[in-house]
Amino acid sequence: MRVDPLRIDDNVIGEAARLIGAGELVAFPTETVYGLGADALRAEAAAKIYAAKGRPSDNPLIVHIAEFDDLARVANDVPPQAKILADAFWPGPLTMILNKKREVPDATTGGLDTVAVRMPNHPVALELIRKSGCLIAAPSANASGRPSPTEAAHVRQDLYGRIAMILDGGAVGIGIESTIVDLTEEVPMILRPGYITRELLADALGREVVTDPGILADDDAKRPKAPGMKYRHYAPKARLSIVEGPEGAVIAKINGLAENARREGKKAAVIATDETADAYEADAVLSIGSRLDDATIARRLYRILRECDELQVSEIYSESFQTPNLGTAIMNRLLKAAGHTVIRVCEAEE
Ligand code: AMP
Ligand code: MG
Repeated sequence: MRVDPLRIDDNVIGEAARLIGAGELVAFPTETVYGLGADALRAEAAAKIYAAKGRPSDNPLIVHIAEFDDLARVANDVPPQAKILADAFWPGPLTMILNKKREVPDATTGGLDTVAVRMPNHPVALELIRKSGCLIAAPSANASGRPSPTEAAHVRQDLYGRIAMILDGGAVGIGIESTIVDLTEEVPMILRPGYITRELLADALGREVVTDPGILADDDAKRPKAPGMKYRHYAPKARLSIVEGPEGAVIAKINGLAENARREGKKAAVIATDETADAYEADAVLSIGSRLDDATIARRLYRILRECDELQVSEIYSESFQTPNLGTAIMNRLLKAAGHTVIRVCEAEE
């Protein structure tokens, strides 16, 4: 059902809230990606999320709250750092990991004794939480393994017939999932990079913040601390390769690969930027936006991966987007979508 975020229809949000209260699943927009919501404190409701998404049961959910005080309903202790980060970034794209209260069912936390909590910055999400009177467990509203949904249509593609309702509040603003920071250890640790960067967190806390070594590894040798980060994820159906190096060499390499694919009778797509798109020859060339605007690159990433699926290509070649701000978050998703297939080229190959 359509809902205008600036003029939320009471009947529509009322019906969605009733469904959440009745233990059903409702997909709703947040500022990061669309979430698939259920009552976080009811095991049977949370369990439905795993079934609808086909999600592995050891992959915990993020609990969404609308008031800071609700943190104390799920977290055993609320450390001063949580208050500082909430003041700085909530509502917003930051998830905090805290020690959980016994009331939070294992179905929500994947059996862990910690809980992930976030206050989303989207009027529809906040109104749904308030009206339902529940805390809402919500992972991204995609089928497990598919790119996260940034539009209601993506949710429909993946989950139609499996959930009670989709609230369509239009396209999301940020486009990649929240930053996850673990506050249960001595040093705050980023378990998933996102829009709120390590530098922003360190500035707000006035101390060092580290990144989980498990997500920086080029391979699967080190286990990431966020269970969800270990899965090949965010993936389009085609084989995706990232080509990295100086611009001219990347263009030459991708054109060569696309030419080879064509000779083998395969369809190929290229994920390029506004600056380079004209230089490619392939069945489809999709520009993700300007290299100078990484917020747009982040916002369009998952949609472009889904577009590649619709084009029914079997090979996708993407440029690398190591931009100064959001590059870490963007490349984390792109590398996972590519199953870490990276082709490095240097000037000499041009
Ligand atoms: P999604 O909302 O689909 O992006 O999935 C939630 C992410 O949060 C997954 O990567 C989970 O592994 C992670 N997560 C949720 N709860 C915890 C927790 N208690 N400890 C570590 N990671 C968590
Ligand atoms: Mg997800």
